[in-house]
Amino acid sequence: MRPGGSDSLLFGERADGSVVHVSEVHPGLACGCRCPGCKAPLVARKGDRRDHHFGHHGVAEQPACRAGAETALHIFAKECLARRLELVLPSLEHPTTYQGGPIRFDAAALEHRLGDIVPDVVVRKGGRDLLVEFRVTHPCDATKIARIADLGIAAVEIDLSWLPRDLSRVGLAEAILTQAPRKWLHNPRLRGPTPGQLEPPRSSEPGLGRAASLARIYAAACAELRVPRAASLPANRISADGLTRAIGIDVPGLGCFTVPPRDWQAAVLEQALDQALLGTRWVITAAEALRQLRQRGVVRSRFTRLSSVEVEALKMREPSFAPPADAISAWAGALAHLGILVPAGGRERWTLWPDVLQVVRAARRARASA
Ligand SMILES: [Zn+2]
Repeated sequence: MRPGGSDSLLFGERADGSVVHVSEVHPGLACGCRCPGCKAPLVARKGDRRDHHFGHHGVAEQPACRAGAETALHIFAKECLARRLELVLPSLEHPTTYQGGPIRFDAAALEHRLGDIVPDVVVRKGGRDLLVEFRVTHPCDATKIARIADLGIAAVEIDLSWLPRDLSRVGLAEAILTQAPRKWLHNPRLRGPTPGQLEPPRSSEPGLGRAASLARIYAAACAELRVPRAASLPANRISADGLTRAIGIDVPGLGCFTVPPRDWQAAVLEQALDQALLGTRWVITAAEALRQLRQRGVVRSRFTRLSSVEVEALKMREPSFAPPADAISAWAGALAHLGILVPAGGRERWTLWPDVLQVVRAARRARASA
């Protein structure tokens, strides 16, 4: 396991089954913890370094026990929500506008069976339930989403796969409850508009009326993204692959995303690298990358459905504005200049330089055997 790396184990399991952060235990075997994944005894490695973590006892530097880190983060997230009973909810744009924001709940139940499904957490407020799913690896699948819709209960997915794994306990709780990307899996209000919820009729000059408010939202989003924050898991992986120069590139359209350019660019590039290394012929297109990023809930969807009139009106007010697909294209174009991507014929299609794949393959091999 690479200390401080993406798979560092930060939580151990105590004899009573509760999960504890490495900051809360004695160093070494005295931590008294087991791996939440494979149940092997753990040693707490707490040297001078900032990146304290657990190691498996009796194994020098074994390959990462991913199950341990993932299980532990999942348990921690559920316990954190149940203990704090508060959560920032994502906004809802159609058919009604709901701003989203922090909500306090009255109660929470972990792993409480509802019909055919067992959601991670069910929280309740004023007699209404909300299902919360934490994504550590795989997103909630379509079957489960369909079952949630059948139950007619609102459900939110919080994507923890972006979390930097070197976060402190407090930082983790903050990310889980407020900052990690989150989206509605289902909301009864999404079931199609009822007469009272129909959109107001469009004015004869579509966009111009809305442009001022969109420009304000965009400017606020840009300001929020300029506050420094720790790198996401994909960004850490891309850096470990030796491709730091490929991410964090300044392109127009900053505020169309909920994460900084470094993080969304890393997510797109990581997906392309993983596919290419599997031998799949992989072409990056702005449309496909945008679809992936929307699925991850890191695109502000109100900026993906603008008319050309609205786009122009927005650019008048916020010259740095560009729709998210254009932001992705601009980034890919920059990568072509850097010799990382190469145009793959046709407009807006790119593939990876074979040389780059060689370098990444070597870097990953070196990490696996470290
Ligand atoms: Zn383990």
